[in-house]
Amino acid sequence: MQNAGVGGWPARRAQMTPDRTALVLHDRTLTYAQVHERTTKLASRLREAGVRAGDRVAYLGPNHTAFAETMFATHLLGGIFVPLNFRLAAPEIAYMLENSGATVLIYAPECAAVVRALPDTPALLAIIALASPAPGEREYETWLSEGDPTPIDVPVALDDVALILYTSGTTGRPKGATLTHANLVWNTFNIMIGVDVASDEVTLISAPLFHVAALDQTLLPTFAKGGCSVIMPSWNVDECYDLIEKHGVTWMFGVTTMFAAFARSPRWAGADLSSLRNLMSGGAAIPAALIRTYQERGLVFCQGYGLTETAPGATFLEASQSTRKVGSAGVPVFFAAVRVVRPDLTDVAVGEPGEVLVKGPNVTPGYWRNPEATAAAFSEGGWFHSGDIATVDEEGHLYIVDRVKDMYISGGENVYPAEVEGVMFEHPAVAEVAVVGVPDATWGEVGRAFVVRRPGEDVTGDELRDFLLGRLAKYKIPRYFDVVDDLPRTGSGKIQKPELRHRALP
Ligand code: AMP
Repeated sequence: MQNAGVGGWPARRAQMTPDRTALVLHDRTLTYAQVHERTTKLASRLREAGVRAGDRVAYLGPNHTAFAETMFATHLLGGIFVPLNFRLAAPEIAYMLENSGATVLIYAPECAAVVRALPDTPALLAIIALASPAPGEREYETWLSEGDPTPIDVPVALDDVALILYTSGTTGRPKGATLTHANLVWNTFNIMIGVDVASDEVTLISAPLFHVAALDQTLLPTFAKGGCSVIMPSWNVDECYDLIEKHGVTWMFGVTTMFAAFARSPRWAGADLSSLRNLMSGGAAIPAALIRTYQERGLVFCQGYGLTETAPGATFLEASQSTRKVGSAGVPVFFAAVRVVRPDLTDVAVGEPGEVLVKGPNVTPGYWRNPEATAAAFSEGGWFHSGDIATVDEEGHLYIVDRVKDMYISGGENVYPAEVEGVMFEHPAVAEVAVVGVPDATWGEVGRAFVVRRPGEDVTGDELRDFLLGRLAKYKIPRYFDVVDDLPRTGSGKIQKPELRHRALP
């Protein structure tokens, strides 16, 4: 019997390509044989710590080889991996640990302050630090090295949950989108075909691995193909140039903010980028001017559209189409069905905007322990509602034009105003608040909060900013705060966010 899930990949690769480099971090390289041995040992340690099939193991930290090892080891035991956004504040992490019921937390030293600030989490049986463990914690490398290398063979079904990925939402607390092994396998297949991933790929893991895009779109397909993943701990333009030149990077994924910053660097003109074969962008339509800038260097983009809940690829635009279909998110990936519908769920005509619905083997079975949110996300026949508005051209190419959901994207991170507003309401001087995303040259969008004070109370933007620090991740904290007398409303009393967005324009 062989582990049918993602946890079986290191063993399979170790048989096929034992001596090839699988992972690189700084000056350390790990071959496929080493990744296999280390993940097996780590899995034995996790099992000693009580992890069984279906149990959750959380990871908190910037990109690192330990991220991949923890994921594969958890999957080897039939467990569920819960990668956490290392930019979040302690109350946000505490909620995710509690909601997922994680029994083991592995964390990086950069997140030590957040871990120390967590309230007591009784479900956690073990806390493992990559460095400088606190009393009662274990140190990752020593812990792993004492593990048992005997192969582990826990059967895993394709429909078993492999990941819980927390996304915020337009209402309530963050939701844990579950992805199964089948979801990951289908997405890996689609990326292999769409990007034409090669076995000699040298992939720069430049986006954060806790997000579905870097994990499913780059690390997993590169690993499955036997390529080399060069891990950059967190995004840094200079380091990106260094790593491309040093390792001969062939493939890199990023969001528009990253590709724009890369091209603005003084190193752009003189750098040797000749090794780059594939650039992939996602998360937002890539502007035509940026496509041209890269084209002048002989570099073309393939582009993807999707969501955490669609694992994430739902549509894909091959590099060969990127200049013919500028602004398009492409056509549905293999085996995924995509519809664009009116509010009454009838299909739109060519050029008519409507909501994107997705169905297929890449779509989440639902949110972790949240049947209400799951029911709300699907319509009859199992169609997942994306909350994005798109048009379709006569050749079936999709163009994302707007969102129904109240969300904006700042530097590639989604910000849900409802979550920010919820925390701002806790401030005693705030009577009403509305947050919108406004255009920003560097970050794509940043937040602007319109605040109505309680009678007799006074509050400044700086005070509100201080209040939010430590309660919310920094990228969610609005850049601008406007104290206003009232908020514009529709006849039914709903705050008119389009009017506020318009007001916020320069
Ligand atoms: P996430 O769940 O973090 O992957 O965010 C998914 C959201 O990012 C989608 O619902 C869209 O609003 C946005 N998005 C992803 N890809 C694209 C794209 N190619 N063009 C425009 N928006 C996108």
